[in-house]
Amino acid sequence: MYKAIVVNKDPAGYHCELEIVEEETLPQGDVTIQVHYSSLNYKDGLAISGKGPIIRQFPMVPGIDLTGTVLSSESSAFSIGDSVILTGWGVGEKHPGGLAQKARVNSQWLIKKPDTITMQQAMAVGTAGFTAMLCVNALEKQGVTPKKGSVLVTGANGGVGAFAVSFLSRLGYQVVASTGRPEESDFLIHDLGASEVINRAELAQPGKPLQKEQWAAVIDTVGSHTLANACASVIYGSVVAACGMAQGMDLPASVAPFILRGVTLVGVDSVMYPQAERQAVWERIASLVDENLLNKICTTVSLGQVKEMAAKLLDGKVRGRVVVDCQA
Ligand code: NDP
Repeated sequence: MYKAIVVNKDPAGYHCELEIVEEETLPQGDVTIQVHYSSLNYKDGLAISGKGPIIRQFPMVPGIDLTGTVLSSESSAFSIGDSVILTGWGVGEKHPGGLAQKARVNSQWLIKKPDTITMQQAMAVGTAGFTAMLCVNALEKQGVTPKKGSVLVTGANGGVGAFAVSFLSRLGYQVVASTGRPEESDFLIHDLGASEVINRAELAQPGKPLQKEQWAAVIDTVGSHTLANACASVIYGSVVAACGMAQGMDLPASVAPFILRGVTLVGVDSVMYPQAERQAVWERIASLVDENLLNKICTTVSLGQVKEMAAKLLDGKVRGRVVVDCQA
């Protein structure tokens, strides 16, 4: 028997409860994990509350991120006692996820936790930090270096944006942080390492197809007009990494930046990102992550507090990352 958050949908409606469930309810998979920590992402908030169509089959254990210790393994890649991390792959959406004391998963979704970060830190990073690292890697793959100029990060106070600002600044980049919360400028500059903060309103409205070349590159977490303006104002031959849609799913842009300035728009997806490359991404995260920052931005809750915390998250009342101690 183990504890799990279980989401159910029936004619009476959508329910989410902390339940004691039988071992037999564990799904198919070749590795069974004692889950030590999970985290709460916006997507988890939607899944737990039923406010977004995240869960594809019921009953479902939500939780798109997890870390823990291998209890049993039929895979030669993992042994009992290994510390592992899983993010994405539809876990917590179509395969029972991390908000439980145990999980059974496909070994091809797992990576070994780098020794230099704790499980709690790995979940403070979670999908948000993993996505931010993928965005930074995507810029570098296109030849962006700190010498080329300032990098714009949009949605800078969000999970992905905050890690993007922090990673870039630790790599020596000048970072311009775009936010709707200018009152958090101190945090963006002193804790995350941004060089400058701009109001997101400057980027949120329809703009000209080609604008002054300002940014050496952009990491965009918000989409819509902001992404269109980012493409229109990045320097000749450079790159915009798009990973989010906090402003909107639309992209009301013209082809001008692509055909007249050779701009590259790179899409970043963390869910199905190739397994073979994930270990290196996590090793890089472990080498760049700022321990003091994680302590500052991380709130740890128990499984029993998940429902209440998920509601606060959706209401925009949570600052930073929420880690769930699944054994508490
Ligand atoms: P958060 O909710 O933590 O942050 C989103 C940020 O976007 C907010 O903090 C805010 O930043 C900004 N924002 C919110 N609403 C608006 C708006 N109307 N216009 C402009 N900016 C806005 O989310 P995450 O950081 O976790 O995720 C960011 C985006 O990335 C989401 O769309 C998410 O779905 C997506 N995502 C994609 C992944 C992938 O694999 N591609 C993985 C993870 C997330 P501020 O307060 O600074 O203005």
